This record gives sequence, C-alpha cells and structure tokens, in this order.
Amino acid sequence: METNNNSADKKRAERSLDALFNIFKEISNHADEVIKNRCPYKNAKSRCTAKFECKNQHYIKKFGEGPVCTGSDLLDYRPAWRTDKKISS
Ligand code: SF4
Repeated sequence: METNNNSADKKRAERSLDALFNIFKEISNHADEVIKNRCPYKNAKSRCTAKFECKNQHYIKKFGEGPVCTGSDLLDYRPAWRTDKKISS
C-alpha cells in the first residue's frame, strides 16, 4: 500500500515538474524574442541605465534623472551603442 502511494506521488511530482518546465520554457523563449529588439539597459520607465554612450540617449534637464532612451523596440539597438565611451552626463 505504501509503495502504491509513493509511486502515485512520484508520478504526480513528475507531471508537476513537466508542467513547470513547459511554463519556464515558454517564458524563456519569449524573453529570447524580446531581447532581440528591447535593449537590456532600458528600464520600465524607458530610462537608459547604461554606463556608456549610446546614440539613443536623450538628456532632459532634470537633476538626477538619467537619459531617456529614444530607441525603438522594433529595431536592433546595438548599432547605437558606443561602448568605448563612458557616459558623459
Ligand atoms: S539609450 Fe541605448 S543603451 Fe540606453 S537603453 Fe536605449 S538603446 Fe539601450
């Protein structure tokens, strides 16, 4: 009897792990697609958090505010990066 319960628990655990794996696989695949066009330095408020220059940075005159990212989420952002230059202001 105990063995049957253990076997059923093991099968339920395996099904749960399979379901979790499929959920995380879908999330990972979606993230892989999004990262192709959305720069990883762009935060939720569309501010740039990079520590190097980028042609898409637009500075606003507000003390303490980082630059606004003017990059499109539909185009590849990497050609705008100037990683050899530190951010200026
Ligand atoms: S300004 Fe450039 S580096 Fe900053 S978030 Fe936008 S694309 Fe990325």
